[in-house]
Amino acid sequence: MSDDPIEPHRHMLAPRPGFNWQMVNWGGPNEPASDDCSYCGDEIPEDCVPLILWNKDGWCARFCDHCMATWWGIKTLPPEPDDDGL
Ligand SMILES: [Zn+2]
Repeated sequence: MSDDPIEPHRHMLAPRPGFNWQMVNWGGPNEPASDDCSYCGDEIPEDCVPLILWNKDGWCARFCDHCMATWWGIKTLPPEPDDDGL
């Protein structure tokens, strides 16, 4: 039997230079999940999928669209514009 039942993500994304891990507000495994970005504190809208990272202790952090793009180079595609007003 393994000591850790949850297989962590082996390949961690590397943040861009300037990222400050001290600013990440990790949420404990027994804390209720927050809807706020763990880095800038912005509320993450329900319709957006945040980047969620777990550390080896099972703490998680989530990043809003803005922080994903800024620090992780992850661009979320904007929804198709609706042009039926023409
Ligand atoms: Zn953010």
